[in-house]
Amino acid sequence: MEYRKNEMVTVRIDDIGNDGEGIGKIDGFTLFVKDAVIGDVVEAKITKIKKNYGYARMEKIIAPSPFRVEPECVFHRQCGGCQIQAMAYERQLLFKQEKIRNNLIRIGGFDAGLIDKIMEPVVGMEHPWHYRNKAQFPVGYDKNGNLITGFYAGRTHDIIPNTDCLLGTVENKKILETVLSYMRENKVSAYREQTGEGLVRHILIRTGFASGEIMVCLVINGTTLPKEKELVKKLTALSLAENVSAVDKDGRPGNAEENRKCDEKTADRKKIVSISVSTNTERTNVIMGKEIRVLWGRGYIEDSIRILGAPEETRVNFRISPLSFYQVNPGQTEKLYSLALACAGLTGKETVWDLYCGIGTISLFLARYARKVYGVEVVPQAIEDARENARINGIDNAEFYVGKAEEVLPEQFEKEGIRADVIVVDPPRKGCDDKCLETMLAMKPERIVYVSCDSATLARDLKVLCGGGYELRKVQGVDLFGGTVHVEVIIMMQYNSQQVGMGKEKN
Ligand code: SAH
Repeated sequence: MEYRKNEMVTVRIDDIGNDGEGIGKIDGFTLFVKDAVIGDVVEAKITKIKKNYGYARMEKIIAPSPFRVEPECVFHRQCGGCQIQAMAYERQLLFKQEKIRNNLIRIGGFDAGLIDKIMEPVVGMEHPWHYRNKAQFPVGYDKNGNLITGFYAGRTHDIIPNTDCLLGTVENKKILETVLSYMRENKVSAYREQTGEGLVRHILIRTGFASGEIMVCLVINGTTLPKEKELVKKLTALSLAENVSAVDKDGRPGNAEENRKCDEKTADRKKIVSISVSTNTERTNVIMGKEIRVLWGRGYIEDSIRILGAPEETRVNFRISPLSFYQVNPGQTEKLYSLALACAGLTGKETVWDLYCGIGTISLFLARYARKVYGVEVVPQAIEDARENARINGIDNAEFYVGKAEEVLPEQFEKEGIRADVIVVDPPRKGCDDKCLETMLAMKPERIVYVSCDSATLARDLKVLCGGGYELRKVQGVDLFGGTVHVEVIIMMQYNSQQVGMGKEKN
């Protein structure tokens, strides 16, 4: 049967695509239907036809899936942020579990039996709302020329004027509205991407969930803002503490118990401690500029993370500057890092390398239980933060290198003859560089712990590591990004000399 563009069809959704879209078949012809949930029967309009498959837009739900829930956010379909908000949270977790499993089998070449034996269920959140500690809001104009801020609509750069995203903190709204009112009153323009004119591009807000400290950074297409003191005056006059009680209504930020405690501790301490501008005059999609200038307060916020089950004294404090990477979901991060530490299996005697270490978050936990930790990270400011973080926590057995993991590690190994008992890696989505993997294999650490935010590149890298003598011992997802299709994975591998070369033949 031939299908045409704009044709209406009825389709049962029986699978989920990588981007969270529903997948269904009509007479063997595969259709990808955005916003449809697995188990739905929907009426959809075909928007694009390819040879063996097509795309369609959901027009009407004929029979809702048992996994379908009423989306909490009115902008859910327009916004690119939460692709699977209409799916029950438990089903979201199962989807993430299957995504990791499939990638390990299809891309990694692992045996399904092995994966099923060692893979643990994805660790979910108790309340998958208000969990993000950071957001970057684009600033622009609506059709009528009114100043707005919010989020980009899916796959576009049109701004949806939503200052009250349910994934972010409840204080964001007040802060954003204050910045907009400063802009209106002082005739400060927003940046226009099409022409490269105008001043304010983005507003970055970052909150320390344990400390209550908030950072506001305006990314501008220039070096100064008109009447900077006015902005500072307005923001510092804001009373944010009263907002905290509003958190109850939609569920607490992040996961219940830990953050509830944090919240109670910080309820009267939620306050802006840092206001800065970042200059970005490039015509690029990169949000932050390279330089930060502090307008008021400090150039950073502090926050702390605790290893679950460990004594309160082992809590690590972090100093976070606008340009440094810091996990966006602090509640789940504690679970992730606790798992990473358990996987590292430290006794106090080990030399550990923590590659892609950011501001030293994982490194400093490892340092509490290892003989020596070396961290490697490419962003110089993050390493400055890492060194400062080691100092403020009284940790003197962690050393940090600025540079690419694939350059620093081989250099140290080949020239200095360094060794490792355990290597921890936490690379960005593109995964590890070949040279980095090769050096890890040559260093032969007893264990490798791989923390990944992309199970496809993870699977690709594991194929190399397991081909070089490592045995996959543990696989577990941790949900840091409820409502979205993203999932973090933690892997533990153990060196097994008898296995060298086996993986390669098998794969
Ligand atoms: N482990 C840290 C950071 C993980 S995010 C944490 O949990 O907080 C990945 C980090 O890798 C980022 O800080 C990024 O700047 C850094 N990075 C990206 N490419 C890199 C490379 N080639 N070598 C070293 N670090 C890199």
